[in-house]
Amino acid sequence: MKIIPIFLPYVGCEGRCVFCDQFGATGRVAVPTFEEIGRIIEEHSRTSSEYELAFYGGTFTALSVERMRGYLEFARNFRVVKRIRVSTRPDEVTPEKLAVLREYGVETVEVGVQSFDEEVLTLSGRGYGTEVAERACRMVKEWGFTLGVHLMLGLPGSNKKIEILSALRAVECGADLVRLHPTLVLKGAELYKMYTKGEYKPLSLEEAVELCSDLLTVLEGWGVKVVRIGYYIPPDQAENVAAGPFDPSLGDKVRKRVVEKIFERLRPKKVVVPSRYRGWLKDPMGAEVFEGEDFSFDELGYSDALFLLGKEVVECLNS
Ligand code: SF4
Repeated sequence: MKIIPIFLPYVGCEGRCVFCDQFGATGRVAVPTFEEIGRIIEEHSRTSSEYELAFYGGTFTALSVERMRGYLEFARNFRVVKRIRVSTRPDEVTPEKLAVLREYGVETVEVGVQSFDEEVLTLSGRGYGTEVAERACRMVKEWGFTLGVHLMLGLPGSNKKIEILSALRAVECGADLVRLHPTLVLKGAELYKMYTKGEYKPLSLEEAVELCSDLLTVLEGWGVKVVRIGYYIPPDQAENVAAGPFDPSLGDKVRKRVVEKIFERLRPKKVVVPSRYRGWLKDPMGAEVFEGEDFSFDELGYSDALFLLGKEVVECLNS
Protein backbone atom coordinates (compact mmCIF):
# COMPACT_ATOMS: atom_id res chain seq x y z
CA MET A 1 0.00 0.00 0.00
CA LYS A 2 1.35 3.40 -0.96
CA ILE A 3 2.21 5.92 1.74
CA ILE A 4 1.10 9.53 1.94
CA PRO A 5 3.82 11.24 3.98
CA ILE A 6 2.68 14.17 6.07
CA PHE A 7 5.67 16.07 7.45
CA LEU A 8 5.18 17.80 10.76
CA PRO A 9 8.61 19.44 11.08
CA TYR A 10 9.96 19.43 14.66
CA VAL A 11 6.47 18.87 16.06
CA GLY A 12 6.92 17.52 19.57
CA CYS A 13 10.72 17.97 19.56
CA GLU A 14 12.09 19.63 22.66
CA GLY A 15 15.66 20.06 21.44
CA ARG A 16 17.60 19.78 18.22
CA CYS A 17 19.71 16.72 17.52
CA VAL A 18 23.09 17.71 16.07
CA PHE A 19 22.44 16.24 12.62
CA CYS A 20 18.87 17.46 12.22
CA ASP A 21 17.66 20.20 9.91
CA GLN A 22 14.05 19.37 9.15
CA PHE A 23 13.49 22.65 7.32
CA GLY A 24 16.52 22.27 5.05
CA ALA A 25 15.86 18.57 4.41
CA THR A 26 12.21 18.92 3.48
CA GLY A 27 11.82 22.51 2.33
CA ARG A 28 8.86 22.82 4.69
CA VAL A 29 9.17 25.54 7.27
CA ALA A 30 5.70 25.36 8.75
CA VAL A 31 3.56 22.62 10.20
CA PRO A 32 0.76 21.93 7.70
CA THR A 33 -2.73 22.90 8.76
CA PHE A 34 -5.57 20.37 8.71
CA GLU A 35 -6.80 22.06 5.57
CA GLU A 36 -3.44 21.50 3.88
CA ILE A 37 -3.25 17.89 5.07
CA GLY A 38 -6.75 17.34 3.70
CA ARG A 39 -5.69 18.77 0.35
CA ILE A 40 -2.67 16.45 0.18
CA ILE A 41 -4.87 13.43 0.88
CA GLU A 42 -7.49 14.51 -1.67
CA GLU A 43 -4.82 14.95 -4.33
CA HIS A 44 -3.54 11.42 -3.73
CA SER A 45 -7.04 9.96 -3.75
CA ARG A 46 -7.28 10.76 -7.46
CA THR A 47 -4.77 8.02 -8.25
CA SER A 48 -5.58 5.30 -5.71
CA SER A 49 -8.30 4.38 -3.25
CA GLU A 50 -6.07 2.86 -0.57
CA TYR A 51 -3.28 4.59 1.31
CA GLU A 52 -1.33 4.45 4.48
CA LEU A 53 -0.97 7.89 6.02
CA ALA A 54 2.36 8.55 7.73
CA PHE A 55 3.01 11.32 10.20
CA TYR A 56 6.73 11.95 9.85
CA GLY A 57 9.21 14.70 10.59
CA GLY A 58 8.82 15.19 14.30
CA THR A 59 8.12 13.31 17.51
CA PHE A 60 4.48 12.34 17.18
CA THR A 61 4.04 10.73 20.59
CA ALA A 62 5.56 13.76 22.33
CA LEU A 63 2.42 15.67 21.41
CA SER A 64 -0.30 15.98 24.02
CA VAL A 65 -2.93 13.26 23.92
CA GLU A 66 -5.41 15.85 22.63
CA ARG A 67 -3.19 16.86 19.70
CA MET A 68 -2.45 13.23 18.84
CA ARG A 69 -6.16 12.50 18.83
CA GLY A 70 -6.76 15.56 16.67
CA TYR A 71 -4.41 14.36 13.92
CA LEU A 72 -5.49 10.72 14.10
CA GLU A 73 -9.20 11.52 14.14
CA PHE A 74 -8.74 13.84 11.17
CA ALA A 75 -6.83 11.18 9.18
CA ARG A 76 -9.40 8.51 9.92
CA ASN A 77 -12.15 10.58 8.33
CA PHE A 78 -10.74 10.02 4.86
CA ARG A 79 -12.07 6.95 3.07
CA VAL A 80 -8.74 6.37 1.27
CA VAL A 81 -6.76 6.24 4.50
CA LYS A 82 -6.73 2.55 5.33
CA ARG A 83 -3.74 2.57 7.66
CA ILE A 84 -1.78 5.06 9.72
CA ARG A 85 1.84 5.06 10.85
CA VAL A 86 3.77 7.51 12.95
CA SER A 87 7.40 8.20 13.72
CA THR A 88 8.76 9.14 17.10
CA ARG A 89 11.84 9.02 19.31
CA PRO A 90 12.56 6.34 21.92
CA ASP A 91 12.20 8.51 25.02
CA GLU A 92 8.68 9.50 24.01
CA VAL A 93 7.35 5.96 23.71
CA THR A 94 5.04 5.39 26.68
CA PRO A 95 2.16 3.01 27.38
CA GLU A 96 -0.20 6.00 27.61
CA LYS A 97 0.68 7.23 24.10
CA LEU A 98 0.78 3.73 22.59
CA ALA A 99 -2.74 3.18 23.94
CA VAL A 100 -3.92 6.23 21.98
CA LEU A 101 -2.24 4.99 18.80
CA ARG A 102 -3.85 1.59 19.22
CA GLU A 103 -7.27 3.14 19.79
CA TYR A 104 -7.01 4.80 16.37
CA GLY A 105 -5.80 1.68 14.57
CA VAL A 106 -2.22 2.83 13.97
CA GLU A 107 -0.32 -0.21 12.71
CA THR A 108 3.30 0.85 12.47
CA VAL A 109 5.42 2.85 14.88
CA GLU A 110 8.79 3.95 13.51
CA VAL A 111 11.28 4.66 16.25
CA GLY A 112 14.18 6.98 15.45
CA VAL A 113 16.75 5.04 17.44
CA GLN A 114 19.63 6.19 15.19
CA SER A 115 22.23 4.21 17.17
CA PHE A 116 22.29 1.71 20.00
CA ASP A 117 25.68 3.00 21.14
CA GLU A 118 25.84 5.11 24.29
CA GLU A 119 28.62 7.44 23.19
CA VAL A 120 27.25 7.99 19.70
CA LEU A 121 23.87 8.89 21.19
CA THR A 122 25.51 11.38 23.54
CA LEU A 123 27.66 12.98 20.83
CA SER A 124 24.58 13.32 18.63
CA GLY A 125 22.66 15.17 21.33
CA ARG A 126 19.88 12.60 21.41
CA GLY A 127 19.25 12.90 25.14
CA TYR A 128 18.63 9.19 25.85
CA GLY A 129 20.76 6.11 26.16
CA THR A 130 20.85 2.58 24.84
CA GLU A 131 18.59 1.20 27.55
CA VAL A 132 15.81 3.66 26.70
CA ALA A 133 16.15 2.86 22.99
CA GLU A 134 15.85 -0.88 23.62
CA ARG A 135 12.96 -0.47 26.03
CA ALA A 136 11.04 1.66 23.51
CA CYS A 137 11.49 -0.93 20.76
CA ARG A 138 10.38 -3.78 22.98
CA MET A 139 7.37 -1.80 24.19
CA VAL A 140 6.23 -1.09 20.63
CA LYS A 141 6.42 -4.82 19.89
CA GLU A 142 4.70 -5.86 23.11
CA TRP A 143 1.81 -3.58 22.23
CA GLY A 144 1.44 -5.42 18.93
CA PHE A 145 2.60 -2.70 16.52
CA THR A 146 4.83 -3.25 13.54
CA LEU A 147 8.19 -1.89 14.68
CA GLY A 148 10.25 0.30 12.38
CA VAL A 149 13.75 1.27 13.48
CA HIS A 150 15.70 4.15 11.99
CA LEU A 151 19.46 3.78 12.10
CA MET A 152 21.90 6.50 11.11
CA LEU A 153 25.37 5.61 9.91
CA GLY A 154 28.50 7.70 10.26
CA LEU A 155 27.29 9.71 13.25
CA PRO A 156 29.96 11.40 15.42
CA GLY A 157 31.91 8.79 17.37
CA SER A 158 30.66 5.86 15.32
CA ASN A 159 32.56 3.25 13.37
CA LYS A 160 31.88 0.07 11.41
CA LYS A 161 31.79 -2.16 14.48
CA ILE A 162 29.31 0.12 16.23
CA GLU A 163 27.06 0.23 13.16
CA ILE A 164 27.01 -3.57 12.87
CA LEU A 165 26.29 -3.97 16.58
CA SER A 166 23.45 -1.46 16.23
CA ALA A 167 21.98 -3.47 13.37
CA LEU A 168 22.19 -6.61 15.52
CA ARG A 169 20.44 -4.85 18.40
CA ALA A 170 17.66 -3.83 16.03
CA VAL A 171 17.23 -7.49 15.07
CA GLU A 172 17.26 -8.56 18.72
CA CYS A 173 14.66 -5.91 19.62
CA GLY A 174 12.28 -7.40 17.07
CA ALA A 175 12.43 -4.75 14.34
CA ASP A 176 10.14 -5.62 11.44
CA LEU A 177 11.59 -2.97 9.19
CA VAL A 178 14.61 -0.68 9.22
CA ARG A 179 15.56 2.53 7.49
CA LEU A 180 19.29 3.09 7.00
CA HIS A 181 20.28 6.73 6.84
CA PRO A 182 23.95 7.55 6.26
CA THR A 183 24.48 10.92 7.94
CA LEU A 184 24.38 14.00 5.75
CA VAL A 185 25.79 17.37 6.77
CA LEU A 186 22.89 19.76 6.36
CA LYS A 187 23.67 23.45 6.40
CA GLY A 188 21.11 24.26 9.08
CA ALA A 189 22.32 21.57 11.51
CA GLU A 190 24.77 21.82 14.39
CA LEU A 191 26.80 19.15 12.61
CA TYR A 192 27.57 21.67 9.87
CA LYS A 193 29.47 23.83 12.37
CA MET A 194 31.39 20.77 13.56
CA TYR A 195 32.14 19.90 9.94
CA THR A 196 33.41 23.39 9.04
CA LYS A 197 35.63 23.39 12.16
CA GLY A 198 37.08 20.04 11.12
CA GLU A 199 35.51 18.25 14.10
CA TYR A 200 33.36 15.94 12.03
CA LYS A 201 34.10 13.98 8.87
CA PRO A 202 31.18 12.35 7.08
CA LEU A 203 31.31 9.01 5.30
CA SER A 204 32.26 9.12 1.64
CA LEU A 205 29.76 7.69 -0.82
CA GLU A 206 31.94 4.58 -1.28
CA GLU A 207 32.19 4.04 2.48
CA ALA A 208 28.43 4.44 2.84
CA VAL A 209 27.77 1.89 0.09
CA GLU A 210 30.17 -0.62 1.68
CA LEU A 211 28.74 -0.12 5.17
CA CYS A 212 25.10 -0.17 4.11
CA SER A 213 25.67 -3.34 2.08
CA ASP A 214 27.18 -5.08 5.12
CA LEU A 215 24.30 -3.93 7.32
CA LEU A 216 21.77 -5.01 4.75
CA THR A 217 23.14 -8.57 4.77
CA VAL A 218 22.94 -8.63 8.58
CA LEU A 219 19.40 -7.22 8.72
CA GLU A 220 17.77 -8.92 5.77
CA GLY A 221 19.78 -12.10 6.44
CA TRP A 222 17.89 -12.24 9.74
CA GLY A 223 14.58 -11.42 8.09
CA VAL A 224 14.34 -7.67 8.86
CA LYS A 225 13.25 -5.75 5.79
CA VAL A 226 15.32 -2.69 4.88
CA VAL A 227 12.70 -0.36 3.43
CA ARG A 228 14.83 2.68 2.77
CA ILE A 229 18.52 3.43 2.29
CA GLY A 230 19.51 7.10 2.30
CA TYR A 231 17.54 10.24 2.97
CA TYR A 232 15.07 11.53 0.48
CA ILE A 233 15.92 15.18 -0.10
CA PRO A 234 13.72 16.94 -2.67
CA PRO A 235 15.82 18.08 -5.67
CA ASP A 236 15.13 21.76 -4.89
CA GLN A 237 16.60 21.26 -1.40
CA ALA A 238 19.78 19.45 -2.50
CA GLU A 239 21.78 22.67 -2.11
CA ASN A 240 21.21 22.38 1.66
CA VAL A 241 23.42 19.29 1.75
CA ALA A 242 26.92 20.56 2.51
CA ALA A 243 28.66 17.18 2.64
CA GLY A 244 28.13 13.48 3.10
CA PRO A 245 27.10 10.51 0.97
CA PHE A 246 24.15 12.13 -0.77
CA ASP A 247 22.99 10.17 -3.78
CA PRO A 248 19.35 9.70 -4.78
CA SER A 249 20.20 6.24 -6.13
CA LEU A 250 22.08 5.11 -3.00
CA GLY A 251 19.61 2.27 -2.37
CA ASP A 252 20.21 0.76 -5.82
CA LYS A 253 23.96 1.14 -5.44
CA VAL A 254 23.85 -0.70 -2.11
CA ARG A 255 21.67 -3.55 -3.39
CA LYS A 256 23.91 -3.93 -6.44
CA ARG A 257 26.95 -4.07 -4.15
CA VAL A 258 25.26 -6.78 -2.09
CA VAL A 259 24.83 -8.93 -5.20
CA GLU A 260 28.49 -8.32 -6.13
CA LYS A 261 29.56 -9.38 -2.64
CA ILE A 262 27.51 -12.57 -2.86
CA PHE A 263 29.16 -13.26 -6.21
CA GLU A 264 32.67 -12.60 -4.93
CA ARG A 265 32.06 -14.84 -1.92
CA LEU A 266 30.24 -17.76 -3.58
CA ARG A 267 31.69 -17.75 -7.10
CA PRO A 268 28.57 -19.56 -8.37
CA LYS A 269 28.54 -21.52 -11.63
CA LYS A 270 24.90 -20.80 -12.33
CA VAL A 271 22.93 -17.72 -11.36
CA VAL A 272 19.35 -16.65 -11.81
CA VAL A 273 18.79 -12.89 -12.07
CA PRO A 274 15.50 -10.98 -12.35
CA SER A 275 15.51 -9.28 -15.75
CA ARG A 276 15.30 -5.77 -14.29
CA TYR A 277 18.58 -6.34 -12.43
CA ARG A 278 20.42 -7.97 -15.33
CA GLY A 279 22.56 -4.81 -15.75
CA TRP A 280 23.97 -5.30 -12.24
CA LEU A 281 25.97 -8.29 -13.39
CA LYS A 282 28.53 -6.73 -15.68
CA ASP A 283 31.02 -9.50 -14.99
CA PRO A 284 29.38 -12.84 -14.12
CA MET A 285 32.86 -14.35 -13.58
CA GLY A 286 32.20 -17.21 -16.00
CA ALA A 287 28.87 -18.20 -14.46
CA GLU A 288 25.91 -19.16 -16.62
CA VAL A 289 23.26 -16.46 -16.23
CA PHE A 290 19.53 -17.15 -16.48
CA GLU A 291 16.62 -14.82 -16.01
CA GLY A 292 13.99 -15.62 -13.40
CA GLU A 293 11.77 -14.13 -10.76
CA ASP A 294 14.25 -14.12 -7.90
CA PHE A 295 18.01 -14.18 -7.51
CA SER A 296 19.63 -17.53 -6.87
CA PHE A 297 23.27 -18.58 -6.81
CA ASP A 298 23.72 -22.27 -7.69
CA GLU A 299 21.44 -23.96 -5.16
CA LEU A 300 21.34 -21.01 -2.77
CA GLY A 301 18.37 -18.64 -2.73
CA TYR A 302 18.84 -14.90 -2.17
CA SER A 303 17.82 -14.88 1.50
CA ASP A 304 20.08 -17.85 2.30
CA ALA A 305 22.97 -16.06 0.58
CA LEU A 306 22.24 -12.92 2.61
CA PHE A 307 22.19 -14.93 5.81
CA LEU A 308 25.55 -16.51 4.98
CA LEU A 309 27.17 -13.14 4.27
CA GLY A 310 25.50 -11.45 7.24
CA LYS A 311 26.77 -14.17 9.55
CA GLU A 312 30.29 -13.63 8.26
CA VAL A 313 30.00 -9.85 8.74
CA VAL A 314 29.08 -10.46 12.38
CA GLU A 315 31.81 -13.07 12.87
CA CYS A 316 34.37 -10.57 11.57
CA LEU A 317 33.63 -8.41 14.62
CA ASN A 318 35.45 -10.92 16.80
CA SER A 319 38.45 -11.41 14.56
S1 SF4 B 1 16.14 14.17 14.77
FE1 SF4 B 1 14.00 13.82 15.30
S2 SF4 B 1 13.95 14.23 17.50
FE2 SF4 B 1 15.86 15.16 16.77
S3 SF4 B 1 15.30 17.29 16.35
FE3 SF4 B 1 15.07 16.14 14.44
S4 SF4 B 1 12.93 15.54 14.33
FE4 SF4 B 1 13.36 16.14 16.45
